Amino acid sequence: MCGIIGIISTKEVTSRIVNSLKKLEYRGYDSAGIATLNGGNINEVKCEGRVDTLEKNIQKFSLRGEIGIGHVRWATHGRPSKANAHPHSSEQVSVVHNGIIENSTILKKHLEKKGYLFKSQTDTEVIAHLVTDYLKKNSLKDTIIKVLKKLHGSFALGILFKDREDLIVGARRGSPLAVGYGPNENYLGSDSYALKSMTNKISYLEDGEFCIIKKQEIEFYESEGKKINKKILNLSQGAISYDKGDYKYFMEKEIDEQPFTIQDCINEYVDKYNREINIHNFPWKISSLKSLVLIGCGTAFHSCLVAKYWFEKNTNLDVTVDIASEFRYRKVNFKKDCLYLFVSQSGETADTYAALDLCKKNKMKTCAVVNVVESSIARVADLVLPIYCGQEVGVASTKAFLGQMLVLYILTTKIAYHQKYITKKDYQSKIKNLLSLSNSTKKTLSSENNLINIGKVFANAKGSMFLGRGYSYPIALEGALKLKELAYVHAEGYPAGEMKHGPLALIEEGMPVVVLAPRDEHYKKTISNMQEVIARGAKVLLITNKNNDEIISENIWEQIAVDKFDDELTPFLITIPLQKLAFYSALEKGYDIDKPRNLAKSVTVE
Ligand code: GLU
Repeated sequence: MCGIIGIISTKEVTSRIVNSLKKLEYRGYDSAGIATLNGGNINEVKCEGRVDTLEKNIQKFSLRGEIGIGHVRWATHGRPSKANAHPHSSEQVSVVHNGIIENSTILKKHLEKKGYLFKSQTDTEVIAHLVTDYLKKNSLKDTIIKVLKKLHGSFALGILFKDREDLIVGARRGSPLAVGYGPNENYLGSDSYALKSMTNKISYLEDGEFCIIKKQEIEFYESEGKKINKKILNLSQGAISYDKGDYKYFMEKEIDEQPFTIQDCINEYVDKYNREINIHNFPWKISSLKSLVLIGCGTAFHSCLVAKYWFEKNTNLDVTVDIASEFRYRKVNFKKDCLYLFVSQSGETADTYAALDLCKKNKMKTCAVVNVVESSIARVADLVLPIYCGQEVGVASTKAFLGQMLVLYILTTKIAYHQKYITKKDYQSKIKNLLSLSNSTKKTLSSENNLINIGKVFANAKGSMFLGRGYSYPIALEGALKLKELAYVHAEGYPAGEMKHGPLALIEEGMPVVVLAPRDEHYKKTISNMQEVIARGAKVLLITNKNNDEIISENIWEQIAVDKFDDELTPFLITIPLQKLAFYSALEKGYDIDKPRNLAKSVTVE
């Protein structure tokens, strides 16, 4: 994961590197560092922890320079510490790296034999020594070509050279890297967002390419050193708010924003006057599609699981869902009449990108559902469907999850109608329901509940379970994931019908269990499963729909009732109390809600 920034300028760069690192912190936040060149010396400041600490240290050491690189880390090799923080430097060069060097152990042994001394446990440090070694007998450009060939694994790199105050080298294989163009200065960054305050003109490196960035120009090369030209793109302006406003936490703000982000997304895709869905740019014939494979990781994977139920109900497509890290390493029988659909908030998720790349190499039809439209996944897929939810800062995804589900539902409806699997009347009634979704989420958000106190119980529990059937099963998985991510409480999501096949043995007196039982076709069965866990001592939080006719059971510990809404869209509503449950549980524990331990927002390593 991690974030990289590099600036070469005629002006001081340290404070701008720090500002960009703050924007990149969503990619990793266990340590941070910066190196500048000044008076022919490489000067470094590094620390364990956040960019705020780095900033204080930079002031203490009065670090200055007109050329520099910076890094926020998400450790893969070697624990988070000052010694393992990037940049990693030799006498000659300083390197920042995003990714994993898979053959670092062999390279390190080889370099140690030659007398190079290692100061860290990272895989990255080999790059600094390898570049230093090759520079002895090669030109700078040949050094880069040869070193990149030696490295196995994935990387985005930024490299400073002690004797070359006139340039920074950038290189990419597997991990994203952008360059930006400014007046008498140029930039390198893990994403365009980090560069946005300095420029809206960017280019993206593709796998295998490297670049030499100077103040007045940027040269691009393919892996053998042949010069190439790059398109300069103008960044989309997007209404990105990176501000907490009156909120204390981004996550809280992002949960509350959901009615608006849902409405924004619906406005993009739904023509409310003609009751039409505006996806007209399919690069293939919808009628030729026979199957669909939905691929994602984590929360995005859960949105794919919900979509499987929608697609199966409303189309005749054969639908499978896959975790990207499994898909990419399995022998897949690719099918020409299949659509491969990739879901990723950042659009940079390494495993999802690799799965997409595999499909492209096999000439398959691909579609991406992403939030960041300038991302690698968006640039490679045949069709891009953005979720339009604005920047999501909280590491545990909330509004992006609803956004992913929403776009997948819109796509289901469009394909269903196109395939004539649903009538025009059904199509328009689904659109009508979509148009009231924002309002229903608003009502769910503002309804009174006891989640602050319920959160206290979950926060202090040894473990917990989340149960559901049908559409509610993937939502149970998502609810459990949120609690794990934020409150560090063991939580299992299960299909309610599976309990008696093993997990019921886990239920003991007082164990908190969430039962998702909206009044749909599964309601009665789920309620029976709920009684089975109550009978074994579980404290049940039931999430269902409002209905005054029926009191279900007096043994239920807590109940939350959302409005009765269209069954297919109810997953949106029942997700909201689960997001809040995780939020309040983490609050009770006093944990860092926006940056949970060991995680990062954009998972750019596999
Ligand atoms: N593998 C490198 C390390 O552990 C880089 C990790 C990252 O991408 O942040 O330092």
